[in-house]
Amino acid sequence: MNVEKINASPYDANIYLINKKILIDTGMSPRSLYEEIEKHIDPKNIELIILTHCHYDHTGAATEIEEKCGAKVAIHRDDMELLNDNTGSVASMFGHPAPTVIPSIIYEGGEHIPISNTENLEVIHTPGHTPGGICLYEPVSKSLFSGDTVFPQGSIGRTDFIGGSSDELTKSIEKLTQLDVNVLYPGHGIVTDDNVNAQIHMSLQMSAVMR
Ligand SMILES: [Zn+2]
Ligand SMILES: [Zn+2]
Repeated sequence: MNVEKINASPYDANIYLINKKILIDTGMSPRSLYEEIEKHIDPKNIELIILTHCHYDHTGAATEIEEKCGAKVAIHRDDMELLNDNTGSVASMFGHPAPTVIPSIIYEGGEHIPISNTENLEVIHTPGHTPGGICLYEPVSKSLFSGDTVFPQGSIGRTDFIGGSSDELTKSIEKLTQLDVNVLYPGHGIVTDDNVNAQIHMSLQMSAVMR
């Protein structure tokens, strides 16, 4: 799996370009994201934009990027409504209206998204930060794209936004501890390959304490 990490602007979530054709999250700066994508590929090659959850710092650029690239947009069913809601998407916190993009692919959790002849991204429903948050696991390289569910060093996502739940977050992180993860690609912060399973266990402990 080929992964390029893109940060289009300082407050953006991490954006990942996978195998030169799939974006995980878009951040909220469409113009700079487009320019960053152009450094790697012709943006028209983007086939799919997977949103890890509805929050504006991950989705704000989705409308423009979808239109410019002609890509499909995917999200979990339980974040559909919040995505286009000014408060639920936290767009209002950033002084913007919610994205108008309507995803055409809706996940329930458990899907396998083919990204090459030999690789898939498994959709894992991980509610808690938002109701329809997902993580994506690629079993060949044992990579986990964790959105805002877990971060390096045992950090965890906030549960005080609309639809958040610390109980759900703990259950979701418990699911993640059952994976074997070599590389963690979080929604914010650095990518880490340093004993990632132990880092996720630290997140589980943190989340159990915060409940
Ligand atoms: Zn978030
Ligand atoms: Zn975020």
